[in-house]
Amino acid sequence: MLEQIKNIKKDFETKLKQVTTLAEVQNLRKEFSGKDAPLTSILKSMRDADEQTKQEVGKQANLVFVEIANKLNALTESLQEQILHEQLKVEKIDVSLPGMNLQFGTKHPLNLVIEEIGQIFSEIGFDLVDGTEIDNDEFNFQKLNLPKDHPARDMQDTFYIEDDHVMRTHCTNMTSRLLTKLAEQKHKDQNLAAISYGNVYRRDDDDATHSHQFMQVDGFAIGKNISFANLKWVLKYMAKRLFDESVNIRLRPSFFPFTEPSIEVDISCFKCAGTGCGLCKFSGWIEILGAGMINQQVMEVNGLDPKKLTGLAFGIGIERIAMLKFGINNIRLFYENNVEFLEQFPFYGK
Ligand SMILES: [Zn+2]
Repeated sequence: MLEQIKNIKKDFETKLKQVTTLAEVQNLRKEFSGKDAPLTSILKSMRDADEQTKQEVGKQANLVFVEIANKLNALTESLQEQILHEQLKVEKIDVSLPGMNLQFGTKHPLNLVIEEIGQIFSEIGFDLVDGTEIDNDEFNFQKLNLPKDHPARDMQDTFYIEDDHVMRTHCTNMTSRLLTKLAEQKHKDQNLAAISYGNVYRRDDDDATHSHQFMQVDGFAIGKNISFANLKWVLKYMAKRLFDESVNIRLRPSFFPFTEPSIEVDISCFKCAGTGCGLCKFSGWIEILGAGMINQQVMEVNGLDPKKLTGLAFGIGIERIAMLKFGINNIRLFYENNVEFLEQFPFYGK
């Protein structure tokens, strides 16, 4: 039996030399130290042997058992180390490699225009205010000379949230809110210049130039002795700053319930300098905004004295300005979040 044990050991060592993977180590462990291993069989067959044989063979078998286990453990350890080493080689961090280029978002073209208009007006003393997009009938209509059943309400097809609350149809709702606030400061100087901006909503069919949701900037200045000449100066200043120093403006009579007189403002075409091109539809002029002197009725409804105070007001469609400035011909591009479109505006104005 001792001879048999020697042979088993020899057999194990031959096979051990051929092992290269952890799975093979596992197989070898099963073969030489499991339930059916040859050494186990030898030990089992010694139940009936005499004491001396039991001692001698048992000792020898156990020694080989331990040796086999030790050799398998050592091999496992070295194979694991080898695997780790190879893994580290692959995953090594090379600190000299250039860093990953993180992609930064860009400013939306409408935000660029809002920021620019904000800058232009803050330089001449206008406050920039945000506003509420859901407002009640009072501030969106009644306090802007649009009482209930006024026919001019038809000009602004409205989304009603409930009977008294609407999605604002213009940023002018902030004008009536600010005028009302101003009226409450009776003892103070009642003068204020502010622009508000944001989304407005109308029940409109969407097409290349119309959207049911769009953005406006609405501005006004109120105080003693504010005249039509001031309005004209402000509009000209804005047109030149927003488009080009050479741009001129043209005023046409119009109608808005909250201003009297009301005007439409055209700018001379900044592309063809008024000689006629596709942008200005060969007229030399481009319509950009509506404006006027604040209607005396509006003053009164908001609690201000029209005999003491006058005011100018104007409203600008942000999309319209952005389309003109950037040569965009479809309003829907602003709302489709197409990255290729939006990425074109990263460094504008810098
Ligand atoms: Zn033109």
